[in-house]
Amino acid sequence: MSNVYERLGVRVIINANGPATRLSGSLLSPEVAEAMREASQSCVDIAELQARAGEVIAELTGAEAGYVTSGAAAGLLLGTAACVTGSDPGRMNRLPDTTGMKNQVIIPRSHRNFYDHAVRSAGVQLVEVGIPDRFSGAGVRDTEAWEIGDAINAQTAAVLYVAQRHAVPPLRRVTEIAHRHGVPVLVDAAGQLPPADNLRRFIAEGADLVAFSGGKAIRGPQASGILCGRRDLIESAALQHLDLDILWEQWNPPASLIRKEILPGAPQHGIGRPCKVGKEEIVGLITALRLFVAEDPEARRCGWVQLLEGIRGTAGELPHARFELTDDPRREVPALALIVDEAALGRTALDLLCALQNGAPSVQAGPGRVREGVLTFGPMCLRPGDPEQVGWRLREIFHREE
Ligand SMILES: *Cc1c(COP(=O)(O)O)cnc(C)c1O
Repeated sequence: MSNVYERLGVRVIINANGPATRLSGSLLSPEVAEAMREASQSCVDIAELQARAGEVIAELTGAEAGYVTSGAAAGLLLGTAACVTGSDPGRMNRLPDTTGMKNQVIIPRSHRNFYDHAVRSAGVQLVEVGIPDRFSGAGVRDTEAWEIGDAINAQTAAVLYVAQRHAVPPLRRVTEIAHRHGVPVLVDAAGQLPPADNLRRFIAEGADLVAFSGGKAIRGPQASGILCGRRDLIESAALQHLDLDILWEQWNPPASLIRKEILPGAPQHGIGRPCKVGKEEIVGLITALRLFVAEDPEARRCGWVQLLEGIRGTAGELPHARFELTDDPRREVPALALIVDEAALGRTALDLLCALQNGAPSVQAGPGRVREGVLTFGPMCLRPGDPEQVGWRLREIFHREE
């Protein structure tokens, strides 16, 4: 048998949703897979490798410094820890006990999501600000920048900002106000690529730290991510992440990452130790990042549209349903929606989603709009030949029970 998954007895799925963690992330390009294989065949000093990767990340993001994490969520944990402890190794050793430290992180209430578990893991409390009554339909407003300024106090370690197309208040206003109070802003930009410009955008808008996923559009290893931003904060994150099981006299950290001369001693294994990163991930992430920024965005989009057209073309006319392809250049990732007339068909979009998932081959569609009677298909994890299989499965499901 040829495929490692077959040998293990694990089904291979068709991922027409996108690079979700529960669906095992993105597909590595052959160059990235080969770079990881090559990396796996030699040992290096991991701090030296991180320092070099950090230089590449800094160059591509415009940040002072960068670091490879095991994902955006790990970046949020490390970034929060850095904001709480600064360069103090005694404090680093005491986390997640934040007694005597700044231990509150302010977040606009409409930015709350369960990835902020990673932030809370550092031992801080989230302080929600503002009422997003535009979402409850009771009003038109959301958190405003002045409310963040109003909430900042002596316990504030950072402001957490979750970047999204619809996120308010504007990041620039938030960083201005936070900086006026000497408070850093940590941005969760996990899924904000493409466009590649966003690698620089949040730093340019004043963010002190930005976390990206490596396993989404960058197509790096699934357990990889980027943390970039202020040099002193990246240094603190590295100190709380790197393995420091080494004698002080022997310890020779790369100067571009860690200033040994400012430390009274080295911290021990830090709060970031459970999200360690291997040489294979660091090399894979950097290789994928370089390929991602070099790729022509127009060519990437056209390739994605073709994959989605393959689904639509193979499925043909489906009873009581119609396709809608969204290819808005400003959205960057095109999407195919299948809008179902649930009453006429006598089946819900959720039924169809489950039928696709539970059939053979198992097809994963996007669940985000099933409540509106819509299945969505994303192109990012489709292999050649997959769109036709999705189209055939749709025909089967729609026509079998007519
Ligand atoms: C995907 C995502 C994360 C988690 O990213 P990982 O790289 O999987 O750790 C965090 N925040 C948001 C908003 C995300 O979309």
